[in-house]
Amino acid sequence: MGARSFERYAPFVSADMMETMREVAAATRARLGDRVLWDISSTRAGGGVAELLHGLLPYVRGAGIDARWMVIAGPPAFFRVTKGIHNALHGVADETVLSDEAREIYEQTLRDNAAQLESLVKPRDIVIAHDPQTAGLVPHLSRQGALVIWRSHIGHERPDGPVEAAWRFLAPYLADAHALVFSREAYVPAHVDRGRSVVLPPSVDIFSPKNQPMDDDVARAICVHTGIIEAPPGPCGCTFTRADGSPGRVDRAADVIRLGRAPSWDTPIVTQISRWDALKDAVGVLRGFARLLEPYAPGDAHLVLAGPDVDAVADDPEGAFVFADVMAAWRELPQHQRHRVHLVMLPMTDLDENAAIVNALQRHSRVVVQKSLHEGFGLTVTEAMWKGRPVVASAVGGIQDQIRSLRDGVLLGDPADLDGFADALRTVLADPELAARLGASAKERVRDNYLGLHSLLRYARVVERIDSAAAGAS
Ligand code: UDP
Repeated sequence: MGARSFERYAPFVSADMMETMREVAAATRARLGDRVLWDISSTRAGGGVAELLHGLLPYVRGAGIDARWMVIAGPPAFFRVTKGIHNALHGVADETVLSDEAREIYEQTLRDNAAQLESLVKPRDIVIAHDPQTAGLVPHLSRQGALVIWRSHIGHERPDGPVEAAWRFLAPYLADAHALVFSREAYVPAHVDRGRSVVLPPSVDIFSPKNQPMDDDVARAICVHTGIIEAPPGPCGCTFTRADGSPGRVDRAADVIRLGRAPSWDTPIVTQISRWDALKDAVGVLRGFARLLEPYAPGDAHLVLAGPDVDAVADDPEGAFVFADVMAAWRELPQHQRHRVHLVMLPMTDLDENAAIVNALQRHSRVVVQKSLHEGFGLTVTEAMWKGRPVVASAVGGIQDQIRSLRDGVLLGDPADLDGFADALRTVLADPELAARLGASAKERVRDNYLGLHSLLRYARVVERIDSAAAGAS
């Protein structure tokens, strides 16, 4: 893992924020001395936690702090147990969290991992352990004298039934944590005393292939090359900068299901980009958009529903089923509506390339939608907001924190209200000034709250808090 200077953020944030960051970095460096800041997660690649850590840790190291990232190991049975906990925390009933045998597998695996960590983690080191996979390490690390922060990236607003059962499974391990971090206030479980809990929303890495600045001409070249739109080739190639800093190029095309021609460069596009997951409600987006088309859509808008190539995600069989549902709903549309809806599967072989296509498509969209039925936080919303796009999204989960309705986007009170969805789209599409105002405010909202720099500052404050408390206690 490399080191990078956070000074890179200077052109994007206020001088005050950079000054605060410099002070906080110096104070944290002085406070930690030669102590190590560990992050422990269950995978180095794939998934939101890995993406987040790749985007943050280089800056911690660049600030002169010895930050290291450890990944736990375990047999498939362990990951079946943690998947069960994950499902239950999302509100999906799962027997795993009730089973003694599952607890035994969970504890045994984490005992083995703790034994490995014993020689590495020193007393007063700071450890940030991520998600249910690592919770069982907390008592071991804490006994060794480390200061432990446990970070949940998952949450549910209604902590009953399966969610409560999952928290009951995890609670004994979390008792020894010095701080517990959640993405939203509503996700803090009842048993956690508020003095130990911290709310710290996720952030986006604005230098990653998905969010880095991209000229219109490049976005256009990528949308044309992948087959999402049709236009004469412009002067630019499909170039971007990879996560490791090397030059990249979009070579692959998307797999597009459509009737007739691709939309032209001037056609306003409404886009939802998501995994093919029933909770993202792509079928609802399609049906709501069909209502917008009657009697006519402002600017003759088209809809793009995009997500990963379902064949490429072998471990997500649900994706193929959901995509089949979306296709069936598309076939049911009358022909004149079907012409206006494009189903797009993005290539997944090269994740940087996939991210660059998402970047281009979000930038080219007139409106980005996220009509989820449930959402932990909603990174697609932050990503589109950072690109100055007006977003129409359901008032669920973390989306409610990000968007102040009619200021930074439009919130749909009831995600199942398809007429309300169509009305919101009509309003934004028909009023370019409103769209520009919402987009500009959205970008400011992310600049003020959801950049990697914010996460660094917020984590530094948590470290300061638990470290001074521990120093006071000893
Ligand atoms: N995403 C992607 N390629 C796709 C579809 C989605 O890179 O084909 C990304 C999207 O840009 C976002 C993430 O997957 O960064 C989804 O995060 P979000 O919080 O919106 O939803 P989740 O999938 O975690 O439920």
